[in-house]
Amino acid sequence: MRKLFRGYKFFGFTLLVITLVLIGLPALLVRGCAWEKPKNTEEQGSEVRLQIGPDRVISLPLEEYLIGVVAAEMPASFHPEALKAQAVAARTYALLRMNKKSKDRKHPDADLCIDPGHCQAWLPQAGMRKKWGLMRFGFYYERVAEAVRTTAGEVLVYQDQIIDPVYHASCGGKGTEDAVEVWGEEVPYLKGVPCTWDPPHRTQPVLSSFVFQDFFARLGVKENAVPVGQGLGGVIRILEHTRSGRVKKVKIGTRVFTGVDLRKSLALRSTDFSIKTQEDRVVFATRGSGHAVGLCQYGAQGLALKGAKYDKILTYYYRGVEIKRAELK
Ligand SMILES: [Zn+2]
Ligand SMILES: [Zn+2]
Repeated sequence: MRKLFRGYKFFGFTLLVITLVLIGLPALLVRGCAWEKPKNTEEQGSEVRLQIGPDRVISLPLEEYLIGVVAAEMPASFHPEALKAQAVAARTYALLRMNKKSKDRKHPDADLCIDPGHCQAWLPQAGMRKKWGLMRFGFYYERVAEAVRTTAGEVLVYQDQIIDPVYHASCGGKGTEDAVEVWGEEVPYLKGVPCTWDPPHRTQPVLSSFVFQDFFARLGVKENAVPVGQGLGGVIRILEHTRSGRVKKVKIGTRVFTGVDLRKSLALRSTDFSIKTQEDRVVFATRGSGHAVGLCQYGAQGLALKGAKYDKILTYYYRGVEIKRAELK
């Protein structure tokens, strides 16, 4: 009796698997094909020339390019309103570069490249499949595409000029930074604003340590610039903080570095750090990640979870801007 029951159970399970394979697989394949070409939108007349390799430039519709940017720049699991805010910021940035009269020295044959340190990150569909896995690809692709579609053509402008919509992963809960503190130039819509919505895993300090010699080598400081017989604590001193409380100037030996320079030379996650010395090491505890100017992505997610719509999120981080529909060729 028990054996027979087990037999039925096994039969039932097999039937379930066969049904799932028969119905599920073709459905996946059909949908997979449909995703190869996103639905046409009126903005697709605008083409982006994108440098995707040292000698490779491709041309693709702007709105299709944006799906690849949002997929690369923000977790696809984020709230739809955060994804929409990201889509509008990404489109604004793309149009800013596409409208530029002078060619970019780094890629004179393309409007944009896929280096997040220079332009914006971008993923082709194969890259998205790899990032999300085949099982989640369809679901995540649709979430991202929906954010791009529902904001089609929308860009951020300040006094009728397309803005430079810089964004970063997380301000670490400290609030955003004034552009002038990072790039030395006042930008009216890139002023620091409070941001208390970053999740705890983003506000916790992250440690990175450097052996004494490596630390000085990376900064190009000669060790004889360090007074003999003095502990490291005496030779590394934070001199000044920015208005938001990030590191502005640090004295190392006889030289003074900006927080921004130090972040770059040591590949630190942010300029919101404290420095400690431990035996033969220098230890940095950083909070947040990125330059902290403009839109805070984790903050945007936090705001969206609290019910804010994408336009409110954008006008919060970019003060005084408006959302307009771009005139596209
Ligand atoms: Zn570039
Ligand atoms: Zn934030």
